[in-house]
Amino acid sequence: MIRTADVVVIGGGISGVAIAYNLAKKGVKNVAVIEKKYLASGSTGRCGAGIRQQWGTEMNCRIAKFACELFENANEELGYDGDIEFKQGGYLMISSTEKEHEQFKKNVELQNRLGIPSRLLSLEEAKEIVPYLNTDPLVSAAFCQKDGHLNPFHTTEAFAKAAERLGVKIYRFTEVTDIITENGKIKGVKTTKGDISTSIVVNAAGGYSHVIGKMVGIDLPVYSERHQILVSEAIEPILEPMVMAFALNLYCQQVPHGGIIMGRGDDTEPKDLRTTSGWRFLDEMTKTIINILPPLKNLRMIRQWAGLYNLTPDRQPILGPVDEIEGFYLAVGFSGHGFMFGPATGVLLAESILGEENTLPIDMLNLNRFEKGELIFEPAVV
Ligand code: FAD
Repeated sequence: MIRTADVVVIGGGISGVAIAYNLAKKGVKNVAVIEKKYLASGSTGRCGAGIRQQWGTEMNCRIAKFACELFENANEELGYDGDIEFKQGGYLMISSTEKEHEQFKKNVELQNRLGIPSRLLSLEEAKEIVPYLNTDPLVSAAFCQKDGHLNPFHTTEAFAKAAERLGVKIYRFTEVTDIITENGKIKGVKTTKGDISTSIVVNAAGGYSHVIGKMVGIDLPVYSERHQILVSEAIEPILEPMVMAFALNLYCQQVPHGGIIMGRGDDTEPKDLRTTSGWRFLDEMTKTIINILPPLKNLRMIRQWAGLYNLTPDRQPILGPVDEIEGFYLAVGFSGHGFMFGPATGVLLAESILGEENTLPIDMLNLNRFEKGELIFEPAVV
């Protein structure tokens, strides 16, 4: 293992590998990624991997649009010998209350102003896109054809391989056990395979970001919550877009091999680092989805798993430097949208670390927003 690095990135999920790739692309020679298990073993490899530009704040619309464009070109940009499987079959957002419908109208107006080609749909139009949709409990829908989903394992591998070709050292099955600071400055990290001297550490540890914060004496305003998800047997194609309902807190998609993946948020889930699966989720998830997509009722479920949402008080990420500790950077608290932001996170954090002007403003996502009381209100978040 190397003994000194220009930058040490903690975490080999989408955020960590994208940050490392962009640093190396910008010419930083000595970047190390430390991952305690295998790449994408955290939330990245457990997520729904949905990509949407349909947000309710200008900031999120712009970050998501930027990330989506990067995903569109990722196979070529990263010289990937596989396929990240970005299927732009659209995202159908369904509303079940008048209030939600009014919010959709505002969101679509904002999205269109920012160049995102979303539109409001009547229920008849929604049924043309998803013929099996039960529109009885619904009011309206919104749709953006350029949204979609992709393969999180291939995407992480694509970034990691490209980063390694540019000289990044990725240490798998290596855990960061402590961070060394001196007079408020980063000096290095301790790992299970030895120490590395460095002046810059990036916390991209997903559900464990709070543990990493503690290593430099900071109590980050983040916590982790279990989110469960399942996949069915493979069936013939019946669902082109990803379907999402905020009021029901669910999403559902058909992946390229034919399986239907569905997940659901639940505020009563444990707020710790547990990733075991439970029967209650299976029961509630299947009942809820059958109400929206009745033909799924005879489907056999083949696998269920869980991962962590890393949440902040406003459910928006914390990106950028930490004022109190020189050389300590955060890419944490992504809630349910850290995968889709991944390529943008990579560019924006690399720019911040190198003191460059950010392609998109991210000051409002700094840790200090909580101290200043400048929380972000995003109406389109799960
Ligand atoms: P992670 O992928 O969690 O990576 C962090 C890594 O850090 C882990 O691999 C972990 O092993 C490592 N690590 C932790 N501590 C240490 C240490 N001390 N030393 C070394 N390594 C360490 N997002 C979307 O955009 N779209 C979706 O559709 C979507 N669906 C989701 C569905 C579910 C069920 C879940 C759980 C999440 C979903 N998300 C979704 C959220 C998304 O998965 C995350 O926001 C995103 O993957 C975060 O990526 P990350 O790289 O920041 O963190």
